[in-house]
Amino acid sequence: MTAVSAPTTPLVDYADAVRRYDPVLGIEVHVELGTRTKMFCAAEVEFGAPPNTQVTPVSLGLPGALPVVNGTAVEYAIRIGLALNCQIAETCRFARKNYFYPDVPKNFQTSQYDEPIAFDGWLDVELEDGTIHRVEIERAHMEEDAGKNTHVGGSTGRIHGAEYSLVDYNRAGIPLVEIVTRPITGAGERAPEVARAYVQALRDIFRVLDVSEARMERGNVRADVNVSLRPSPEAPLGTRTETKNVNSFRSVERAVRYEISRQAAILDAGSAVVQETRHWHEDTGITTSGRVKSDAEDYRYFPEPDLVPVAPSREWVEEIRATLPELPQARRRRLQDEWGYADAEMRDVVNAGALDLIEATVAAGTSPAGARKWWMGELARRAKQDDVALADMPITPAQIAELQSLVDSGRINDKLARQVLEGVLAGEGGPEEVVAARGLEVVSDDGALLAAIDDALAAQPDVVEKVRGGNQGPVGAIIGAVMKATRGQADAKRVRELVLERIGG
Ligand code: MN
Repeated sequence: MTAVSAPTTPLVDYADAVRRYDPVLGIEVHVELGTRTKMFCAAEVEFGAPPNTQVTPVSLGLPGALPVVNGTAVEYAIRIGLALNCQIAETCRFARKNYFYPDVPKNFQTSQYDEPIAFDGWLDVELEDGTIHRVEIERAHMEEDAGKNTHVGGSTGRIHGAEYSLVDYNRAGIPLVEIVTRPITGAGERAPEVARAYVQALRDIFRVLDVSEARMERGNVRADVNVSLRPSPEAPLGTRTETKNVNSFRSVERAVRYEISRQAAILDAGSAVVQETRHWHEDTGITTSGRVKSDAEDYRYFPEPDLVPVAPSREWVEEIRATLPELPQARRRRLQDEWGYADAEMRDVVNAGALDLIEATVAAGTSPAGARKWWMGELARRAKQDDVALADMPITPAQIAELQSLVDSGRINDKLARQVLEGVLAGEGGPEEVVAARGLEVVSDDGALLAAIDDALAAQPDVVEKVRGGNQGPVGAIIGAVMKATRGQADAKRVRELVLERIGG
């Protein structure tokens, strides 16, 4: 490959940029709903199906085909709206968003414009240190996804330089909900963190609402991130850029950070930020110019004449509200309460991704303190060492519960438990199996212990003399010898009792 020398984009050091400029964010999140069929027709929706096998005349935009609204998609949109503390419209309409692109076979996207199904909400976003930042939600509206273009033959995968392009309409018409924030102000230097935490909180909510698998890597959740700078929090909003389709939490954070540094350099030079969409490049961690951003007028929005308005009855909305599951933040509060963890302990558990694991371990019978000890101690250490997620460690909460119950019943001690854990992680089976296979059980048979004790006493007659003389200090030497002889498998407390009995007798 030839090295291409791209003009270097001037950047201001991040800390310096946020000292002198106030960043303002706006985030649009698209979530693909996990309905069985598409938004306006009965084409099935299944990830990974062969191209153009999940289409109907409606999703291909064939002349005369008429759309019908997917009732489940409307219900899911209402669930999302309610979870985000939104008002639900008594009546709302679909609108045509007109533009030409081959992945939109109708030449318009059926969306909502001035009448979204949900509006005026908010979400309290919790940062890693427990700080809460309230994000105001302007609207959540229903729309359909576009198809997928594949550009073949170019070096970048983009249309420029490609020899030809392929279109797959399987995705065209999959129901989406788009959630749009009001300008997010007051985050200051923590703006990138707030952006990331917000998208992550939404993903968690989609999952517990069971409206989407919400898998970022499959593009079920996509974020468009608007960033602008102004000289101070009192100044009017600056010109924003919109970085499209950022598909991981980490990328959301990095893209915001990059745009802040880039825009600060432009403003420092006395130039104006261009209002445009930008592409995020995962590999290099930069954004590049896309197209100059269309204003809404360019889309010639108008009400969709082929669909009747959607008017969810208040009874139905209340029915849906009554069946909303416990939301992630409320669940965290409840569990912390039940488990008696300190704030910092709970934050560490959440940040380590151990919440579900500990909950399952506790459900399997382990005390909250015991569950936390394993997952946040030995296992967290090993996960970090092997660079894998805690949830991907080759051990289950049920196995941890089994391990802890072996300790609690005295069949193994802490030291042996570590060896058992090692065996389980090495794929030798569950804790009971490892104990049996490796012969790790504590020797609690007094007969076996007494034999080892008698050997130790015989080997150290001077110690026996001292102890008989009333000095119990040196008895540790005998216990140590017994533990060594039993390869750490004796119960030290029982050994001590037996040794004193033996000497006394
Ligand atoms: Mn959209």
